[in-house]
Amino acid sequence: MTDSSVSNLIELNDVVKIYKTPAGDFMALKGIDLRVGAGEFVAVIGKSGSGKSTLINTITGIDRPTLGEVFVAGVPVHRLSEDDIARWRGRNLGVIFQFFQLLPTLTLVENVMLPMEFCRLYSPSERKARAMQLLERVQMADQAHKLPSAVSGGQQQRVAIARALANDPPLLVADEPTGSLDSKTADAIFQLFEELVGQGKTILMVTHDRDLAARVNRVVLIADGEIVDQYVSRALDTLDQQQLVQISSRLEPVSVPPNSVIFRKGDPADRFFIIIKGEVEVIVEHTSGREIVGARLESGQYFGEMGLLSGGVRTATVRTSAAGGAVLMALDRETFTNLAAGSQLTHDSIAQLMRRRTTANHLISTFPDLDEEQWDEIQDDFEVLHFEPGQIIVRRGDPARKFFVISKGQVEVLQLDGETVVTRLEEGRFFGEIGLLRGGVRTATVRAAPDVESGVELLAVDQNAFNQLMADSQMTKEEIAAIGMRRR
Ligand code: ADP
Ligand code: MG
Repeated sequence: MTDSSVSNLIELNDVVKIYKTPAGDFMALKGIDLRVGAGEFVAVIGKSGSGKSTLINTITGIDRPTLGEVFVAGVPVHRLSEDDIARWRGRNLGVIFQFFQLLPTLTLVENVMLPMEFCRLYSPSERKARAMQLLERVQMADQAHKLPSAVSGGQQQRVAIARALANDPPLLVADEPTGSLDSKTADAIFQLFEELVGQGKTILMVTHDRDLAARVNRVVLIADGEIVDQYVSRALDTLDQQQLVQISSRLEPVSVPPNSVIFRKGDPADRFFIIIKGEVEVIVEHTSGREIVGARLESGQYFGEMGLLSGGVRTATVRTSAAGGAVLMALDRETFTNLAAGSQLTHDSIAQLMRRRTTANHLISTFPDLDEEQWDEIQDDFEVLHFEPGQIIVRRGDPARKFFVISKGQVEVLQLDGETVVTRLEEGRFFGEIGLLRGGVRTATVRAAPDVESGVELLAVDQNAFNQLMADSQMTKEEIAAIGMRRR
């Protein structure tokens, strides 16, 4: 038993569940870690078949994990014998199912008395009085002597909740408790849960109902046997619970083997991806045509936003390395754009990262030998400048103060006469290094291409940052100058 299992009412450590099927082994839970503190109201959501019931059943002891540990209030449920589990559950857990599962031949009050009798709790004379109190609490006391078949589904579920409370357990576990009820009845049952949480109970509830899930303290999202909400929340850290719940049913798990292309530069962009496990490489093309790993992204990071938000076409190739595959959650274009459009905060945070990545890609394609850490530092030194078509950027003879990389549009380098165009430089190319490397004076005039309507966007650094860049880069001043010259 670990220390935290005492402060957490529920603690799952690396829980794996493998079902043996005629078709072979099926892994329904793939290493689940979960902590639930006393007093929490937690909704477990996810698609049908994602492993919600399997997860819940390992906590109640209805099912055993193949590997891993399950503690409830410090008790190692995974190690209890079958006999011990039934007794332990009866005293410590209230379990509520979708189809109530009341015994059809017993009256409602007898159903509620059953767990007390099974666990030999309370004196026989107290049991009936307590059962009546519990029925009172769920507003079913007036029907106490009816059979289950004589009352409605919503009423049966109220009785099932009273039964779950019979031995006053600290924890209630419910698997789709409102799944077979109409929405009004479902709401009433949910309100009853809210009251119970208010009175100090802890509730873990599987639900399909997104409206209800948005109202609990905490949502646990399962996809393909894994808990994924923390990765989604880490990637999109401005997302609130309601938005998480809204997109949950649209998230599709995607498993990518090692050494596979996820999408290629130029492909139409149709999906947004969040990394759950493993790593992907973003491939940036150097101006020489050589491919460079521009960035490595890992779990809790996202990619694919650029193609969706600007232009509709992939701006880089993304792939898994030969060393390992990745598990991703994909979101369709419509849901992603709605998400970005529906929340200014989310939109701004995505736009900011996109800008940073665009800058990085341009710089990487210019200085391919810098590592990611150096990039992270240098990136902050670059400012984004914008020039109108035809506007002069540097003038021959002026003091040289900055170095420029073209991030959008084109520039023209002019001859001594200041009119004849020597060369045009396009996106990804740089200029201004000669003045900084030699003498400190501009040797040519450069202007934004007059015929590019949107003007030109430049990434600019001052002399100090440029010197740092030179120091970090393995390229010598001569090499930089030579690349610069060759490009012209
Ligand atoms: P959920 O409750 O999210 O709909 P389940 O936990 O019931 O999902 O099931 C998760 C996966 O495990 C599903 O693919 C299901 O088919 C499979 N599964 C569940 N129970 C068994 C079983 N007893 N034998 C084999 N496969 C099972
Ligand atoms: Mg289920």
